[in-house]
Amino acid sequence: MEDITSHNIDRFISCIQKAERIVIVGHMKPDGDALGSCLGMYHYLRLHGKEDRKVVFPHRTQLQLNFLISKDIRKDVLIHEDKPAAAEKAIREADLIICQDFNAFHRTDLLEGVLKESQATKILIDHHLNPDRESFDLTFSETEISSASELVYQILMKTPQIDGDASRLPEESAMALMTGMTTDTNNFANSVFPSTLRMASALLEAGVNRDLIIASIYQQHSESRTRLMGYALNDLMKITPDGVAYVILDKETLKKYHIVDGDTEGFVNLPLSIGKVKMSLLLKEDGDKMRVSIRSKKGVSANRCSRLHFNGGGHENAAGGRLRIPQDIAGADHASAYIEEHTHIFMTRENEE
Ligand code: 5GP
Ligand code: MN
Repeated sequence: MEDITSHNIDRFISCIQKAERIVIVGHMKPDGDALGSCLGMYHYLRLHGKEDRKVVFPHRTQLQLNFLISKDIRKDVLIHEDKPAAAEKAIREADLIICQDFNAFHRTDLLEGVLKESQATKILIDHHLNPDRESFDLTFSETEISSASELVYQILMKTPQIDGDASRLPEESAMALMTGMTTDTNNFANSVFPSTLRMASALLEAGVNRDLIIASIYQQHSESRTRLMGYALNDLMKITPDGVAYVILDKETLKKYHIVDGDTEGFVNLPLSIGKVKMSLLLKEDGDKMRVSIRSKKGVSANRCSRLHFNGGGHENAAGGRLRIPQDIAGADHASAYIEEHTHIFMTRENEE
């Protein structure tokens, strides 16, 4: 937690105190950690009496996360794909922008330009590799941590308002942070550190309703999602001789199973349960590109593979990226050949470099 010094906490608090209009920004296609960390901060700011605060995302969040966006805060959660003008206006008018769960402005898709242009004070709170520190006045970056939500938690715990006592966090803040940490660790399966369990323990003690979180994020999916999971594992999954498993979901398949954003969350992890599989890729056709999710076991760098071959990045064992049509592949039906060729190069020559 190198960046969480008392000096930086003082600067963080002084930025908040000086600010009149605060905007918290998360990354494109926000997942549980993006939403959880941003709402965790949003609710905390109430303790500073900051009424004029908003959360801005490039896109809508996954359906199963909507339980975190209660009716009374809906007006403060602006989605650029729904209301581009309002989202951009909020960013233009903000005097403090807190960016969370992404490492560089391009991860906010169409918000990149307006964020770059803004003269507001900018704070970054992120757990991905390669944070773009130059673009921010203050950066809290930590990669040896479960999630951005845990990082926000660690920062807030050091503030005078919370002073190490998790029960002082507003209830909604605690709930959001617990949710983000739970989804990013895949329910305590990956990236769990001693600090992660201390956080979970303190939040449970503070009264967070974990049962509600689990029921909301893991037990409310459509039937067709599980049917697609069966089909994907049985019929679509391929395993290369290098131990790379991949599943390609083209737009016809996604349509046939009525798949919406968030439905395929977690699919990419499933092939890793096979002993010989060292890395797993899930591709989803999405307009003029294939969205790529990569997960790897220890010793294989998903981040490196994504940076070298899939126009993305992320964490050592969990990364994302994209294959553009037609720049990278001629069409979705060429994705399989691309993966076979490029992951072979990666696994045999580049992973160890
Ligand atoms: P997912 O597969 O769940 O979309 O992404 C896995 C992880 O990689 C997440 O932490 C996500 O934020 C990150 N990620 C996804 N795409 C990119 C990308 O293009 N660049 C970077 N730096 N990180 C990404
Ligand atoms: Mn995220």
